[in-house]
Amino acid sequence: MDDPAARAAGLRVLSESVSGCTRCRLAEGRTQVVFGAGHPDADVMFVGEAPGFHEDQQGVPFVGQAGKLLDRLLAGIGLARSDVYIANVLKCRPPGNRDPQPDEIEACEGHLFRQISLIRPKVVATLGNFATKLLSGKPHGITRVHGQEQEVTLGGFSVVLYPLYHPAAALYTPAMLKVLESDFARLPGLIGRVAAAEPLPAVAEEPAPTAARPAVQLGLF
Ligand code: URA
Repeated sequence: MDDPAARAAGLRVLSESVSGCTRCRLAEGRTQVVFGAGHPDADVMFVGEAPGFHEDQQGVPFVGQAGKLLDRLLAGIGLARSDVYIANVLKCRPPGNRDPQPDEIEACEGHLFRQISLIRPKVVATLGNFATKLLSGKPHGITRVHGQEQEVTLGGFSVVLYPLYHPAAALYTPAMLKVLESDFARLPGLIGRVAAAEPLPAVAEEPAPTAARPAVQLGLF
């Protein structure tokens, strides 16, 4: 499906169907599913961990304190939310903002992979450990891999993964914020380079489901 309008329509259909998802226990405690928001044909997609209190209330990802920092970081590189797409690994809020559980990630990851295959971003910037480990398929933590681009196959397409510290972690750790800002500053160049390169062909094979991958220790950083 090469037509951006058709992919945007596909994303709306997916959002509608995910809004009633009952694949895991998080359906019981949520106010609503937080599917994702932004440009349906964005070059760059940000993937966080899971909705928090405010996101669950408003149905929009990254609208709390961490979201305000994400907005500032985006503005610092000349981008607005409407230029990018923002989503999470989990579409429903874990109670008390606890860590996502492996079975919840496994239940939800198909929604994210489908989202990626419809948006077809050139760069996927993962925010924190959960998104980074899920989408890289590797156990390496964010402290080790932040700012290091890697080519991966997601939703049947080759994309460049760019791991970043989670804004929530950087909020209270000035040294981490400095690193996040400097990793962010490299994003425009990376997006430009990837966009200028020949589009990579679609690959038939989907990534292995979580259960088939080595167990990875997930966490914020
Ligand atoms: N943290 C996340 O990972 N995602 C959100 O949407 C909000 C906070």
